[in-house]
Amino acid sequence: MNNNQMPAGDILGASLPHISGNFGNIFHTDNYDHYRSAVEETLDLVGTFLHRNDKPFSGIEAKEMKGMVQQIDLNQKLSSYQELLEEVDTIYVKHATAFHLPQYVAHLNCPIVIPALAGEILVSAINSSQDTYDQSAGGTFMERKLIDWTAEQIGYGTDSDGVFTAGGSQSNLMGLVMMRDCFSQKRYNHNIKLDGLPAEAGRFRIFVSDKSHFSNLKNASIMGLGEKCIVKVPTDERFCMDITLLKKYMKREEQLGNIPIGIVATAGTTDFGNVDPLEDIANIAEHHNIWMHVDAAYGCALLLSEKYRHLLNGIERADSVTIDYHKSFFQPISSSAFIVKNKRELRILKHHADYLNPAEMDEEEIPAQINKSIIQSTRRFDALKLWFTLRMMGKDQLAEYTDTVIDLTKDVASMIAENPHFELLSDTDLSVLVFRYIRSDVGDLNALNQYIKMKLFYSGEVLVASTKVDGNFYLKFTFLNPITTTEDVHQILNKIKAHGEDFGTAN
Ligand SMILES: *Cc1c(COP(=O)(O)O)cnc(C)c1O
Repeated sequence: MNNNQMPAGDILGASLPHISGNFGNIFHTDNYDHYRSAVEETLDLVGTFLHRNDKPFSGIEAKEMKGMVQQIDLNQKLSSYQELLEEVDTIYVKHATAFHLPQYVAHLNCPIVIPALAGEILVSAINSSQDTYDQSAGGTFMERKLIDWTAEQIGYGTDSDGVFTAGGSQSNLMGLVMMRDCFSQKRYNHNIKLDGLPAEAGRFRIFVSDKSHFSNLKNASIMGLGEKCIVKVPTDERFCMDITLLKKYMKREEQLGNIPIGIVATAGTTDFGNVDPLEDIANIAEHHNIWMHVDAAYGCALLLSEKYRHLLNGIERADSVTIDYHKSFFQPISSSAFIVKNKRELRILKHHADYLNPAEMDEEEIPAQINKSIIQSTRRFDALKLWFTLRMMGKDQLAEYTDTVIDLTKDVASMIAENPHFELLSDTDLSVLVFRYIRSDVGDLNALNQYIKMKLFYSGEVLVASTKVDGNFYLKFTFLNPITTTEDVHQILNKIKAHGEDFGTAN
């Protein structure tokens, strides 16, 4: 039966003879059994993923992976979930990176918590869209409550507001857009949203540290300011923004005729996990009467920790903050937020679409989160995952996980520092350690450490990241898993050492 042949049925939907056959795939009351069995079979594959993997990566090469995916004919459908799951297992699950294993210490991919995964089932099945009240109802207010809760952790007052976003890069974009538009509005009474960039925009300058996230550059370029508007201030010996140099660079830009419009402080750099001096930066921003944005995509974890919260002192003085729950709150991707101190300033982003949030709609009575969103219209109810998490675990358990990870990192830092085979480059406020393996008989330490990283990657036993500092290649551990023990890391270091000893003999 196709659509045209469908009997009209009861207009109230009481006895529509839908379902089965062609329409059995639609998520609907009558197809709940199908939904449930499809999800259960898929869950078995999750179980396989968990039980099978004892290393974070299979070690497969991209070329082989590509071939496996490419040979599939998408125009030939499969006949059962069993076939589908076998296919997806072969080309995806078997080789997927297992972030939950202690041997995964590479990038900022946290292990995720079970309450959030339970929430995810509702997020995808009910499929609310967070842009307007009529597409989300309670979801709008739950998101707002979580935004308010996050703002409270930051130390903001009741004037704050914000919105969930797809990630830290997008939240940072919102921070820079608000910085730029508020500056232009206040300084020149020029409305960028309506009139485009003012003549002065070519001379706008935004100050970041040279260890800040690259999204600042990308964002500046899509904002029409060009990467040139980003001034990278050198960092001190702990890789935090050097305040003396910040002042110097600001003065230098002014002398060149350029116009400082704001400062981005990084609370937890991706490479070193260190927090820029927030109080000092707040003082300088205040003095110049310019916007301060804090990129706490990673460092937001500290907000919940009694033990380490002091490292974020001053964050409450920022005009806006980026939070990545999918980096530091053990949330599945995506889950992120942009928070502003003063909700009146968020209005600068507001756009009225007659079909969604017409101007005459009373914001208090019928709220619409789309008013605060910079590019997303249809938007997932990611906030529900955080709701599940907070309600089941409480803030204290999240904080405990974070404290455990930071404490582990401190132990590992001592372990590396005391080991004559290793050189530790820096300590960390959070949980990243940058180091390298050294051998007195090897001159090219870059080649040595690149070799180790490559060997580890293709063995799949341990995944570490790397970075370059002053042109030199270093290995990098990012710890985010509270399950990881010093014994696990001890074994990882032994593997690194073993490959390091092989260098020059085996290759
Ligand atoms: C990861 C990261 C970002 C970008 O966040 P996404 O969620 O990956 O878009 C921004 N800033 C810092 C410091 C980060 O570590």
